Amino acid sequence: MTSRLNRLAVAFVATALATLGVTVANPAPASAAMTICYNTSQAGSYAGTANQAASIWNNATSNLTLSANCGSNLRIYQINGGGSYAVRTSLGNGRVYIDTQQAQQYSPLRIMTHEIGHILGLPDNYNGNCSLLMSGGSAGTSCTNPYPSTTEANRVTNLFAGTRSTDRASSEIFRDSWPSMLTTVG
Ligand SMILES: [Zn+2]
Repeated sequence: MTSRLNRLAVAFVATALATLGVTVANPAPASAAMTICYNTSQAGSYAGTANQAASIWNNATSNLTLSANCGSNLRIYQINGGGSYAVRTSLGNGRVYIDTQQAQQYSPLRIMTHEIGHILGLPDNYNGNCSLLMSGGSAGTSCTNPYPSTTEANRVTNLFAGTRSTDRASSEIFRDSWPSMLTTVG
């Protein structure tokens, strides 16, 4: 729904610009989409969730194809406890860990698309806004939105198009705070 609205918005802006006589150049040389091969052999019960998340990212970006079982740029693991997190070794490469316990409180698909977002170059933005994917657990357990905002998706597209510096998308570990509303760690 959100991405459909986003697409409508993009189409509207393009139409408006065309009406004004502004020519919108095609972004960068239209090189073939970059393929990121993800591996779900260790993803346990979240393999299907990973496939859904891959579809969301493929639809939201214009130059990326996340594809299953063609290699291991991205390995996805199911873990039990300790929190979900992502280890990005470089842009488009790394490992994602989905904590079963967290995924019983928060939407597993939102967690998955969020953690993959880190692999695709996005930082956390814990501002509580459910319309953002990278607000993560700050938006609360009731927030099940698994879609990146237009801004978030465009940032990923630009990173992979090389039109944005990838300096800040290098090796990094994201230990995610998906705070529990039900338990207090003491
Ligand atoms: Zn995060």
